[in-house]
Amino acid sequence: MLKNFLPNEHVKSVLDITPAKLKNMGIKGVITDLDNTLVAWNVRDATPEIIEWFEEMKRYEINVMIISNNDQERVSIFSEPLETPYVFSARKPLIHAFKRAAKKMNLKKEEVVVIGDQLMTDVLGGNFAGFHTILVVPIVKTDGKITKINRMMERRILHWMRKKGMIKWED
Ligand SMILES: [Mg+2]
Repeated sequence: MLKNFLPNEHVKSVLDITPAKLKNMGIKGVITDLDNTLVAWNVRDATPEIIEWFEEMKRYEINVMIISNNDQERVSIFSEPLETPYVFSARKPLIHAFKRAAKKMNLKKEEVVVIGDQLMTDVLGGNFAGFHTILVVPIVKTDGKITKINRMMERRILHWMRKKGMIKWED
């Protein structure tokens, strides 16, 4: 049960995930969360660093798709300038949006990583769908309304996992 919440990897920032590293792992596609993964949940547009990250992925021919539980307005305003396909109201951790994304990229599940800042949605859904999951540290410590509830559960799960020695990283 608990291991469904365990990411395959944990990194500080999405910027630590380089296309060269992904290529080495045989990865051809990235499914990434938006809020608190790419930018703070209350920041409208991509930062120069994130724009560069998307361009770098493109240079290495790694497909990137944004999959967010947030609404159409938020996700489209952020994603369209990056010329990146996106799914809004994705209802993570349900696996439909993840599966559809991999299909759209025409990739097998072994060729895709899922990146996100939440155990309850990104990691759980990514694991259920059978992808390699990478947890990032949330960009800011605050969250939108629904996420606040998820975070309460997340803190408990992290506590249990830590007690059982399942995770090694620091807070
Ligand atoms: Mg998020």
